[in-house]
Amino acid sequence: MASNGYQPLAGMSDILPPEIRRWQQIEQVGRRILEAYGFDEIRTPILESTGLFERAIGDSTDVIEKEMYRFTDRGGRDISLRPEGTASVMRAVIAGGSDLADARLYYFGPMFRAERPQAGRKRQFHQLGAEAIGEPNPAADVECIALQRHILSAWGLEGFRVELNTRGEPDDGPAVAEGMRNALRPLLGELCDDCRTRYDKNVLRVLDCKNPGCKDVLASLPPVTAFMGEAARSYLDEVCDLLKLLDIEVTLNPRLVRGLDYYAHTVWEIVHDALGAQDALCGGGRYRFELGRRSVEGVGFAMGLERVLMVLASSSTPAAAPPRRVQVYIATQDPAAFRENLILAQALRVRGVNCSIEMRPRTLKKQMRAANLAGAEWVVIRGEQELEEGTFLLKNMAEGGQEALEMPALMERLLNAFSIR
Ligand code: AMP
Repeated sequence: MASNGYQPLAGMSDILPPEIRRWQQIEQVGRRILEAYGFDEIRTPILESTGLFERAIGDSTDVIEKEMYRFTDRGGRDISLRPEGTASVMRAVIAGGSDLADARLYYFGPMFRAERPQAGRKRQFHQLGAEAIGEPNPAADVECIALQRHILSAWGLEGFRVELNTRGEPDDGPAVAEGMRNALRPLLGELCDDCRTRYDKNVLRVLDCKNPGCKDVLASLPPVTAFMGEAARSYLDEVCDLLKLLDIEVTLNPRLVRGLDYYAHTVWEIVHDALGAQDALCGGGRYRFELGRRSVEGVGFAMGLERVLMVLASSSTPAAAPPRRVQVYIATQDPAAFRENLILAQALRVRGVNCSIEMRPRTLKKQMRAANLAGAEWVVIRGEQELEEGTFLLKNMAEGGQEALEMPALMERLLNAFSIR
């Protein structure tokens, strides 16, 4: 659809009230749980050098080859909008040196991929991600999976499944690639053109192909673990054992490799049937990343927030966005009262009361309707009589009662009502 200049670009959205409150709620719940697991927030730039993503994600992945928002800045630097969060966190961890050697970090934010927009696939989407920096340890991988499930459940999601696999030790890479090439060689004629290119450039990427014909062919391949050494298999066994200990059900998916190159050892995805073709809610895995002479290892995950909200909206009883809480609505009838009403609104707000004040001298009926719509708990009214008497009429919207009070008594009553001292 051609843009009329008022709409966001294709695949990008405005997030407006009241929907924004669902997002804020999700963030609040997520932050609380992440902090309970010992994670701190990190905010990295949205723009990075393109080379960072190429090195971290792998330059023959779909994300890098086809989906980057990439351009040259005024200084001639090749820069890109971030397509995911892990590369920037790894860069920041390397820059931070020993202070961040065991950091546990989380982020919320927009990611950008120039994909063909469709349901559940956007060009600007949002992720909650977390990274636990540190050497390979099956317990850390399992903790990340447990944390992700905890967050999904606290958001009200049910019916999601965890699929798990391993990418093996970093040293297993050449043997896995060779084993996969040998297994695929007799089947090459049945694969799509993209897969034939992937076969030469980065054979594991063949396993990510979404083409139904290729998927059928791939079903007959041996699992990638068949080409790995003993260390990778026993690491996976330990992960499975600890998952069992914590009563976390997973399905082993021998073809799950994830579309990014930096993984080593455990990889997983959390999927949900309500999402249709784009069924991945979250992805995660252990990685090792080298930048210059420094390297960083860790385990982490990213959760797609648009998809989380899609699943929540598809439930039989979707939760409405929580209302913005208006505690006091100050009606304005007499223009002479307005200046004092402004002082009252300010005094209430600085003490933490959510307060709306009517700016237009509309009829009292219209103002009461607006107060009702906003869900106000109390309304303050000042007509001619109250002005003359130097009082304010305070009306309780739930109980219906009202009384005339002078300013100090009014403040005390309202601050008491909201337990503000
Ligand atoms: P990935 O690292 O590609 O596995 O992405 C992690 C999660 O982000 C996915 O499981 C999705 O929930 C979400 N995601 C990835 N790409 C998109 C997209 N184009 N639109 C919406 N969500 C996405």
